[in-house]
Amino acid sequence: MKRKLIKKIKAKREAKKLIPKLFEKARLAYKKGNKKLYKTYSKKIKYLYMKYKIKLPKILKRQICKHCDSVFLYGKNCRVRTREHKLIIYCLECKRFTRIPLKAKKNNKNQSNITTI
Ligand SMILES: [Zn+2]
Repeated sequence: MKRKLIKKIKAKREAKKLIPKLFEKARLAYKKGNKKLYKTYSKKIKYLYMKYKIKLPKILKRQICKHCDSVFLYGKNCRVRTREHKLIIYCLECKRFTRIPLKAKKNNKNQSNITTI
């Protein structure tokens, strides 16, 4: 049992390191025009974080399409707009939207500093 657990933890660690590299590889493949490779890389990213239950950071999470799992290349692959306090990302691969609410932080330290000065 212990050996199995250690194996799982090691695999998770390796997957965490692999994911950012896969993002770069997918982007390179898209720029070179190899769409098949691009799709395989972007599907592998989803496979890894689903299998090992990795919680992606916000920055990485906004770079994947929710619906078709493709990696976004801002300006080429998707369209980003702000509307009614929401960030709307339109995926050109599957032609669907993802909406992210933009909320101002309540305890913003920078703002309080400006008011005191
Ligand atoms: Zn999509």
